[in-house]
Amino acid sequence: ATLQTAVRGDSGAVAVVVPARPGADAVTVSYKDLVAEIASFQRKLAAIGLGLGSPVSIATVNSYEFIVSFLAAAWQRGIAAPLNPAYKQDEFEFYIEDVKSAIVLVPKGAYQSETPAVKAARKFKAAIAECYWDAAKKEVALDVKELGQLEGKPAQPVLKATPEDVALVLHTSGTTSRPKVVPLSHRNLTRTMSNIQATYQLTAADRTMLVMPLFHVHGLLCGLLAPLSTGGSLVVPTKFSATDFWKDFAAYKANWYTAVPTIHQILLKNPTPNPLPQIRFIRSCSSPLSPTVFHALEATYKAPVLEAYAMTEAAHQMTSNPLPPGKRKPGTVGLGQGVEVVILNDAGDPIPRGSEGEICIRGENVTTGYLNNPTANASAFTKSGYFRTGDQGRLDEDGYVVITGRIKELINKGGEKISPIELDNALARHPAVGEAVSFAVPDEMYGQEVAVAIVLKPGARLLHDELRSWVGERLAKFKVPKKVYFTDVMPKTATGKIQRRIVAEEMQKQDA
Ligand code: ATP
Ligand code: MG
Repeated sequence: ATLQTAVRGDSGAVAVVVPARPGADAVTVSYKDLVAEIASFQRKLAAIGLGLGSPVSIATVNSYEFIVSFLAAAWQRGIAAPLNPAYKQDEFEFYIEDVKSAIVLVPKGAYQSETPAVKAARKFKAAIAECYWDAAKKEVALDVKELGQLEGKPAQPVLKATPEDVALVLHTSGTTSRPKVVPLSHRNLTRTMSNIQATYQLTAADRTMLVMPLFHVHGLLCGLLAPLSTGGSLVVPTKFSATDFWKDFAAYKANWYTAVPTIHQILLKNPTPNPLPQIRFIRSCSSPLSPTVFHALEATYKAPVLEAYAMTEAAHQMTSNPLPPGKRKPGTVGLGQGVEVVILNDAGDPIPRGSEGEICIRGENVTTGYLNNPTANASAFTKSGYFRTGDQGRLDEDGYVVITGRIKELINKGGEKISPIELDNALARHPAVGEAVSFAVPDEMYGQEVAVAIVLKPGARLLHDELRSWVGERLAKFKVPKKVYFTDVMPKTATGKIQRRIVAEEMQKQDA
């Protein structure tokens, strides 16, 4: 299968709805029109010389034009390279240079106002084109402003993708080291799409609210591609808004959504929709969902909450808790879903069931290796061909995966390994603590010591020593943080991910 055969709905069925917002009418597109629009945009890309292996960077917010340009690039055997449109110039330069973009697609008006994406594209001689929904002509426009390296390039024929073609390149989040470039083929992507379809029994009758950004695998694979390949409908606001979320959900009769825990928590802080829509399930992925939030979600929205586990290198999903009547286990990420999951030791050998080791995976969804990164590739796979996730975990008595931390983030205090996630969860139970992030700091005596960054709840007060003795009453003494840093805001990525590495750097500035 390829992405070409994976847009599969009844021709008259609604594929995409972009809700109306001040200044912009709603856009509603049928499957028939979507397929025609992608084919038409593909011809436009071919006409300016884009073809096999051409990296097409897309720096627009979630939108109909994103969906069309993304799929058109993949159909034309190009490599779609979505970028966060909110990046600053340095970031655009980093990513555009790294993926060697042939063209950078930006929103209408971006060229005139010389946005950071435009400046960065010019620096690396990428073509620059505005890409937007032309409401008058009722089509997605490709308005080429500069041809850059495409100057003089002959038009390409309209191509047909094969399963082995790389369709997408994305960078990992860079939580543990410099972001790595992950190529994903049509085969990798379509495998994840069918895995997700099977896990959640998606059908043409389903409607999803897509609120995750399309420049990461979460939004792209689970939010967009899996539903499109089952003929379901998508509601695609240009950005997540807690106040509009349930309004759109009810107005367009959505019945499920997937998001990171941060978004679930934001929704819980807003009023419960009345009447409550019929929600078939809620999916949580990309960061640990605390059991407290899990129970609050199920109680509030009367729907099963299914936590999943995913990574860029796996084209998103690896495991998930199952739909009822399957058992949901808060604090676990469920079972392998079309993906083989094993726990191995450092040498890549199996260990007794229940012991902690590295979570390793195998499946058609997994990338064949990072781009231009022989060092990372040398240690990415075990001798028996499993991909090393870099996450530490174990299987419980039912074979459910429990993630206990990231191997690179474990705090190693004189050989004693401490899971920062366990510590975060313990600290979060203190009544004055709003948010807690634990990390290692260098220590002369032990090599590493335990440190923690704390955001207090509004109005709360807490002393360093109070917190330490509170932890000492609940966890082994060696886990008590030696250093406690108080901070107003916790640094996070666009998807709400904690970057322990960055938190550690920021907090240690307080020592200076
Ligand atoms: P880098 O690989 O550059 O260090 P990253 O691993 O954060 O960054 P991603 O591919 O975006 O980049 O994220 C995958 C990681 O997210 C997983 O390896 C895992 O650590 C974490 N993750 C995903 N889902 C969950 C979950 N449900 N619970 C806990 N952690 C999760
Ligand atoms: Mg990673």
